[in-house]
Amino acid sequence: MVKKIAVGTAVAALAAMALQLQASAQQQGNAPARRAVGGTTAGNDAYPTDDQWKNSKEAQALVAKAKAAAGKDEKLVSRFDKACTVLGPQRPAVLRQNAGLPAEPQRQVDIVKLFDNFYFFGFSTVGAWAVTTNQGIILIDSLNTVDEAEKIIEPSLKKAGLNPADVKYVIVGHGHFDHFGGAPYFQQKYGSKVVMSKLDWDMIERPNPNARGPQANRPLPKRDVEITQDNQKVTLGDETITLRITPGHTPGTLAYYIPVKDHGKSINILMLSGANITPDRASLDAFKKALDYAKQQKVQALINGHPGLFGDEIGWMEQIRSNPNGPNPFVLTVDEFGKFADIMKDCAEARLVAMDTKKTATN
Ligand SMILES: [Zn+2]
Repeated sequence: MVKKIAVGTAVAALAAMALQLQASAQQQGNAPARRAVGGTTAGNDAYPTDDQWKNSKEAQALVAKAKAAAGKDEKLVSRFDKACTVLGPQRPAVLRQNAGLPAEPQRQVDIVKLFDNFYFFGFSTVGAWAVTTNQGIILIDSLNTVDEAEKIIEPSLKKAGLNPADVKYVIVGHGHFDHFGGAPYFQQKYGSKVVMSKLDWDMIERPNPNARGPQANRPLPKRDVEITQDNQKVTLGDETITLRITPGHTPGTLAYYIPVKDHGKSINILMLSGANITPDRASLDAFKKALDYAKQQKVQALINGHPGLFGDEIGWMEQIRSNPNGPNPFVLTVDEFGKFADIMKDCAEARLVAMDTKKTATN
């Protein structure tokens, strides 16, 4: 117990430090305050400015179209509010920082069964998932470190009545340490196969000149399975997860299509490891195709690696925990999800066209 708290506190302290560093960088010089944003392959300036966003008629027409699609559907209106801003869906810590609010300490979230065969555990800011099959477990992401795999993931699985030795695969959504950090633990202890896009394997294996201290010395998982093409599948027993590559946050960020059971009913869910960070046209095109494929697959829920991007995910999990037989707040109808996908596409397009205005204006 004491150990658990120590781990959580250390991570929270590191997160707070990172935010402070960014905040002090913001205060230097007379340049306009730099906003904190989610990282992209094109750098953190790959978002329109507030003025570009407001003044681009084309962008605002797309926003109006997305708003109309949300209509009066409360679930869609709250998702529109998160998706259709100048920075798009961002982690709550980033939004707090931009609003000048102090960082909230990260807290550990007790394991929660989101669907009959799909569990969440980890922290309020980043999590991992377990998909159970009739031949073992597929873990999705692995928190920050080997230590967290041992002290958080392993006990969480046991608490849910699952055997950590049954983890056959660890699929890592993208090559950042808060997703792959715990993977070596399962690879070494249980022989789990680690899956990542080829592009992100290449990325993490390149020496990183900016990595310092514990990050530079962090053990990497060894390359087991590479995702090299769209619709590549990972099958274990009666479960098949389909993967697509949606570059933007990293070169090979993954989107997952996962069949789950919601109170016995089969539905498909979509996981976007890189939220909807689409800094350029190629990235936006891949993102649109991924959402169109989700519509084709009649997806009904969207999950992200970091809770709080698309809604009050931590609150929704509490709701499931307190009322496990009630309606699942993550789940939309097929029709609602289709509209949500269109809203995300239009709002990402709006950000890109708002930036295009800048390019034409300054060139
Ligand atoms: Zn990341």
